[in-house]
Amino acid sequence: MPATLDAPAPPSGSSRSGSSLSSAETAQLFDRAVIPNYPRLPISLVKGEGSRVWDAEGRGYLDLFPGWGCNLLGYSPPRVVQAIQEQAGRLIHVPNTWLIEEQAAFADFLTQRSFGKAFFCNSGAEACEAALKLARLHTPEEKYRVITFEKGFHGRTMAAVTATAQPKYHAGLGPLMPGFRYAPLNDLDAVRALMDDETAAIMIEPVQGEGGVNVHPPGFLQGLRDLCDETGALLIFDEVQTGMGRTGEWFASQTFGVQPDIFTLAKGVAGGVACGGIVCRDEIAPSLRPGMHASTFGGNPLAMAAGLATGRTIEEEGLLEHCRDMAERFREQLEPLIASNPIVEAVRVCGMMIGVQLTVPAGPVQDACLERGLIINSTQGSVVRLLPALNVAPADVDEGCAVLIDCLSDAADQAGDAPEGGE
Ligand SMILES: *Cc1c(COP(=O)(O)O)cnc(C)c1O
Repeated sequence: MPATLDAPAPPSGSSRSGSSLSSAETAQLFDRAVIPNYPRLPISLVKGEGSRVWDAEGRGYLDLFPGWGCNLLGYSPPRVVQAIQEQAGRLIHVPNTWLIEEQAAFADFLTQRSFGKAFFCNSGAEACEAALKLARLHTPEEKYRVITFEKGFHGRTMAAVTATAQPKYHAGLGPLMPGFRYAPLNDLDAVRALMDDETAAIMIEPVQGEGGVNVHPPGFLQGLRDLCDETGALLIFDEVQTGMGRTGEWFASQTFGVQPDIFTLAKGVAGGVACGGIVCRDEIAPSLRPGMHASTFGGNPLAMAAGLATGRTIEEEGLLEHCRDMAERFREQLEPLIASNPIVEAVRVCGMMIGVQLTVPAGPVQDACLERGLIINSTQGSVVRLLPALNVAPADVDEGCAVLIDCLSDAADQAGDAPEGGE
């Protein structure tokens, strides 16, 4: 029997982690009242701190995939909590008919570290919708087509899901939005062949997240930049997952040295508070003209205060550098598996985005890790995916890697046994 991760007790002040229902009781309520569109684990998480989280039964977990990437600084980062508390006491919501100091401040923070001007919404899909609308609005009338990429992921609203070139997300939803064309990955000639006078934009994740942590080969993103410059199409980077420090720079565009015309943000941008946004070049910004786009909650004081606190924490605590250091720490521990573990085909690390490509299904590895108190993710069937917090502690990296390596070794043993086992 493998030992469970040695998680410390829940932080003080939390009897049974502060929850009042057991996981089973919450599950019953879900059955009665919640639309069952998510495959849910039967575990109710009730309290977190950094990369640790506790369930209603008081069991602790090390989470190397906190909040699907939304918890960029781990659970309840103190400076973000404090900013939210102070802001909520002052002002929670103000409509965009007024000036909102916090919105201007966060826009300034983001654009000082990139370029241009920002617009805020509340989620990644909305950010992609805004980027797509802006691209169509800004380019000449006849340009409306958008090229996106196989295995990409851009969200679940109708334009965003159409942009998501994965048939499994389209089933039963048709007709989808007209005007989208899908290109294979890493094939500039194929992209060129899909482009014409009607192409308004190319949209791509600088590193594909849900698609399996796919880092593009050198030159590919620059090649897309060049194609856009030749044809007058706009280059949109979907940085919903890569943005705000995840790749070890503020934005993945900086990691790869290619500047888009528009980029999207969401997930971790406000440290776990719902927030999305786009940044675009100055010349493009006026095309999102008054009356053509809006978001009621977009840029609200609460989310903006959280975003600002998140950004300042990253800056003042040196977390971009820490992120790069921890990326090396993961790489050093996981890359040797390619040689030592027959089911490990590749290890892809870009800052705190880590993918381990297996030759077997990754779901059972995810389950085995959870059994031992380690939270990870699996995607695209055979990719183990980690999105650790930018401030993950070195000891947590080592502990998580040890458990993961153990579980991968068990999975290799099982895969090796299977043919003889005659199952
Ligand atoms: C998660 C994600 C989205 C969708 O974000 P939501 O907030 O769920 O709408 C879009 N693009 C990328 C790259 C993502 O990772």
